[in-house]
Amino acid sequence: MKTIGLIGGMSWESSLLYYQIINQYVKKRLGGHHSAKSLMYSVNFQEIKTLQHQGNWDEATKIMIDSAQKLETAGADLIVICTNTMHKMAQEVERSVTIPLIHIADSSAIKIVKDGIKKVALLGTAFTMEQDFYKGRLTEKFGLEVIVPNEVDRSDVHDIIYQELCLGIINEESKQTYLKIINNLKQQGAEAVILGCTEITLLISQDDCSIPVYDTTRLHAESAVDFALKGTIQDA
Ligand code: GLU
Repeated sequence: MKTIGLIGGMSWESSLLYYQIINQYVKKRLGGHHSAKSLMYSVNFQEIKTLQHQGNWDEATKIMIDSAQKLETAGADLIVICTNTMHKMAQEVERSVTIPLIHIADSSAIKIVKDGIKKVALLGTAFTMEQDFYKGRLTEKFGLEVIVPNEVDRSDVHDIIYQELCLGIINEESKQTYLKIINNLKQQGAEAVILGCTEITLLISQDDCSIPVYDTTRLHAESAVDFALKGTIQDA
């Protein structure tokens, strides 16, 4: 079993889920008292959030690279960045270490393609919904058509992530807002929705939605285990 290196704390609310899902999935795969070999380097999210909103991505990239290198030095065999947004600098992080990085978009996209879905809605931070690092990968590498909410809805999705979910606040009204937005995207032809922020799973589950839900937190965490056990993320 390889040692999984997790860059966490973005926010710790979802890092907690990664730790739990990874260990539950190892137990499911291997049984008995098996659990994951893992290391987590957890950052201070206030610093990251400030840099993101200042657009200071260079400084944020330095922190991600430093975290990945610390994990490699400590003995990690693979790197998992426990957030969608901070995959903006996935390439730079990947280049800064000699161990592989398990990309969060790939974990979902492989499954989406396998399930025969062509047009998918993406919810996440404004950075993830509006910039190309995430949508571009889904489109170019996996041939998916990706749609995002309109400007007003994107702003609601973003604010709920930072002002509530990353602080562990779960609000019924916000859940209804998300469901309305997902429904609008369904009306526009989305066959499924990607929960492209690792805290959205705290608010929305498959039971709430009439289209398939791809939870990036679970899929990414399980991919890390697949890789740790089999050396590939397509091997579940
Ligand atoms: N965890 C969130 C994500 O998956 C947002 C927090 C962050 O900005 O990293 O994008």
